Amino acid sequence: MPRERVYRTEAVVLRRSDWSEADRLLTLLTPGGKRRVVAKGARKTISRLAGHIELFCYTTMLLAVGRTFDIVTQSAVRQSYERLRGDLQRISAAYYTAELIDRLIGEDDENPLTFELLVETLGALDSTRAIDLTLRYFELRLLGNIGYRPRLHNCANCQQTLGEDAKRFSTTAGGVLCPRCENADRRALPMSLGAFKLLRYLQTQSAQAVEQMTLSESLRHEVEQLLRAYLRQVLERDLKSVAFLDDVRTDPQGDHHGLH
Ligand SMILES: [Zn+2]
Repeated sequence: MPRERVYRTEAVVLRRSDWSEADRLLTLLTPGGKRRVVAKGARKTISRLAGHIELFCYTTMLLAVGRTFDIVTQSAVRQSYERLRGDLQRISAAYYTAELIDRLIGEDDENPLTFELLVETLGALDSTRAIDLTLRYFELRLLGNIGYRPRLHNCANCQQTLGEDAKRFSTTAGGVLCPRCENADRRALPMSLGAFKLLRYLQTQSAQAVEQMTLSESLRHEVEQLLRAYLRQVLERDLKSVAFLDDVRTDPQGDHHGLH
C-alpha cells in the first residue's frame, strides 16, 4: 500500500549527520523499521526542529514523503533521557544499542517489538545502577526479536532438555550444548553454571528485575564475553562501539573526541 504523503510516527534518532550547510540527515528507528530522513534547516540555531531531533530522543514526528528521503516537518519530544546525556558511561551504552540496531535492522524492516525494546532500554539506561546488565538484557531481547534467540533450555544441537551439567555455549549452533553434544562444535565456549543461570534469567525477566541483581564481576564479565562472541557470529564482524565501551570502562575520565 502506498504511504500517505504526510504521515505521523514515533521515532528514536539512532544517528545524525550533516547533510548540507543547513540540513541534517537522520537515521531513525520507527515501529515500521529503520528510516533515513532529512531535517531541513536543522543546523541553523533558530530552527524550530533543532531541539527535537537530538540523538537518542524518543519523539513523535510528522514526515512528508520525499523523492529520496522523507522530510521531517514536525517533531515533538516524548522522552529526552537527560541523565543519560550527562553521563559518559550511560551515553556510550546508548551509542552501543543504537549501533547494534542500526547493524541488525534493515530499512523498512517492520519490528515494533524492537522499537519498544529500544525505548525501554534507553529509559533503563537513564536510571539504572546496572548499565552492563541492562545491555545484556537488551542484547538477548534483540537477538530474539531478529530470529537469533539463543537456545538455553534445549540443546542447540539435539534439542534434548538441558540440565545443570551443560558446560558449553556454541555460537555457531546458536546456544548451549548438552554434555553428549559437546564435541559437535569443537570451538564451543566453556560456560560456568553461574553464567548459564544468569543467561536464562536475563532472557526471561523484566529489565527492572535484572537491575536488582547482585553479581560478581567475573560472572558479569563471563556473560558479556559469551554474548559478545555470539553477536560477533551474528554480525560477522566486530562492532566499533564495543572497543569504545571497553575504553570508557577502563578510563571513565578519559577524553573521547569521537562522541559528538
Ligand atoms: Zn545435545
